[in-house]
Amino acid sequence: MSQLAQTEAGTGWPLAASHLWPRLRAAGCALPLACLLLAGCTAPPADYHQSLFIFGTLVDITVYDAPEDQAATAVAAVDDDFQRMHREWHAWKPGGELVALNQRLASGETTTVSDFLLPLLLQARTLSIQSDGLFNPAIGRLIALWGFHSDEPPPGPPPPVEAIETLLAGKPDMQALVIEGNQVASDNPLVQLDLGGFAKGYALNQAIARLRSLGVGNAIVNAGGDLCVTGRHGDRPWQVGIRHPQGEGVIAALAVADGECVLTSGNYERYREYQEVRYAHILDPRTGWPVRHVASATVIHVDGGVADAAATALTVAGPDDWQQIARGMGLRYVMLVDEKGTVYLSPAMAERIRFADGQGHNTVTGKM
Ligand code: ADP
Ligand code: MG
Repeated sequence: MSQLAQTEAGTGWPLAASHLWPRLRAAGCALPLACLLLAGCTAPPADYHQSLFIFGTLVDITVYDAPEDQAATAVAAVDDDFQRMHREWHAWKPGGELVALNQRLASGETTTVSDFLLPLLLQARTLSIQSDGLFNPAIGRLIALWGFHSDEPPPGPPPPVEAIETLLAGKPDMQALVIEGNQVASDNPLVQLDLGGFAKGYALNQAIARLRSLGVGNAIVNAGGDLCVTGRHGDRPWQVGIRHPQGEGVIAALAVADGECVLTSGNYERYREYQEVRYAHILDPRTGWPVRHVASATVIHVDGGVADAAATALTVAGPDDWQQIARGMGLRYVMLVDEKGTVYLSPAMAERIRFADGQGHNTVTGKM
């Protein structure tokens, strides 16, 4: 997770709850405390906040206008779900279902996968095909070769070119997966699944579904900038700021509608460095090398898994090919920021994004 979109409380964007204050004043309330004492004034519903540490990042959950015990119970259930997802879908930490599946795929065995993992495999395969293979979760071996199957990417030079070329020549892709019911096999022993570009968005969607099922209708689940929302924040939609990929500030703000997710991939947050060259954790499956050209890609979609996979694919596609990939994946809301700070927008995204400083960005609106 790369781009830090924060809830408004963290960005300096106006707080939704503060919009209640003018209304309270209009109702004759000079101070909030006085307001509480006056008949006809009600205190604004409070936000309930919880931070969970999961997927290597802090996940902030904000619940609006729910009884505290209900919010706490719902967030605890989400935490349990996240722990299980983290364990079972992890690409390289032993003990989970995906690691076990990868071992069996490598030895050509057919495996019965759980109903917990199966939908991810099916959707990841579809998304990979729609993205022309730019989102390719079958390249786990390449990702490991580049050293990204460790908490700290290693120092030192890139891996040997021959090793990269050998893996590329083996063409690991999602089409090699044979899925019948819960039975999964691979035609290609070089297929190693890494759901790192997809599972977080999928998990965020699941978190929203869990919150809703436990009676929480207004919430935002924000995993270090990748987020999904349900409902609204008081009298208006949830607002988020999107961090500038080159610098500390916020590049833009967005109102996020009920049920939407905002996912970003970027090549600036996790990388290895050697002789002042940065090698990002997002690989171009066509070359086997890290993506160089794009700083970040942001996608809004009601399906968090689609948004996550798409953001990864668009980061690979870059300024030349992003429109074609966005069309193939059926996207409406896309923003790319390249290394020069040029902002590429789909027409629908151009209509809803608000730049932090009013204007001043070199923007290009694409055709979709
Ligand atoms: P982040 O996790 O920073 O939000 P992404 O969603 O783009 O960024 O996920 C990056 C992760 O996806 C990498 O760490 C790796 O595990 C995996 N990955 C890298 N390149 C690709 C690719 N081309 N297709 C699918 N997954 C990829
Ligand atoms: Mg992604």
